[in-house]
Amino acid sequence: MAVNNDEKEQIKPIGHNELAHKSLLQSDALYQYILETSVFPREHPCLKELREMTEKHPRNLMATPADEGQLLSMLIKLINAKNTLEIGVFTGYSLLSTALALPSDGKVLALDVSRENYELGLPIIEKSGVANKIDFREGQALPLLDELLQNENNKGIFDFVFVDADKDNYLNYHKRVLDLVKIGGLIGYDNTLWCGSVAAPPDAPMMDYVKRLRGYVIELNKYLAQDSRIEICQLPVGDGITLCRRIS
Ligand code: SAM
Ligand code: CA
Repeated sequence: MAVNNDEKEQIKPIGHNELAHKSLLQSDALYQYILETSVFPREHPCLKELREMTEKHPRNLMATPADEGQLLSMLIKLINAKNTLEIGVFTGYSLLSTALALPSDGKVLALDVSRENYELGLPIIEKSGVANKIDFREGQALPLLDELLQNENNKGIFDFVFVDADKDNYLNYHKRVLDLVKIGGLIGYDNTLWCGSVAAPPDAPMMDYVKRLRGYVIELNKYLAQDSRIEICQLPVGDGITLCRRIS
């Protein structure tokens, strides 16, 4: 069947750059507008320093963008979170956003398989005056979560959980995190739009890591949509964040 020019335009394959793009908005200019108008003017100076330090890191694409850090901060304050968990720290942008948003007696338990990148950000976190709220534990997150769950007293202790680590384990994290967050508490699963690849044809050109993990993110999204223990809201902020409120 012949394809006319208009149709060709609509089915044009998604380019490499589009799938590796940091924002899902329609243009870079619009994203820049949000950052410059609403985000950067209110960004804590230590968050700014941490962001600028992380920009020089070869894996800087892993960092939570500043607009998403602002969202996390807003959510933590709205739900009056006091005790939170983060899985996947890297240099600590989301962790510092969290620690700054928590009340002075708040705590965040932060898990990452590697301490090395956390230590790059640590001097800045210490300068910010909120390092006392952070309990960083190095190791694979799954066994650390299982260890927490061995103690019945840890069930339902977290008000907020931010999951931003290995995407192929998100469903394994979900099983455990649901027991650790309180009923009425909130979980944020990050990167649930996976550079837009979740809606792209499987043969669309995409970075190798995007292609390798895309199926896991699609499975997670399907699973969360039918899980009656939670209410969900998937937001196109950053690379997509799915908020889950535990209801049972
Ligand atoms: N939230 C971070 C931020 O704001 O910059 C970004 C986290 S980065 C996308 C993912 C992190 O998950 C990396 O630091 C990596 O070491 C960690 N990670 C990957 N697999 C892990 C695992 N199995 N257990 C714990 N941490 C893991
Ligand atoms: Ca992320």
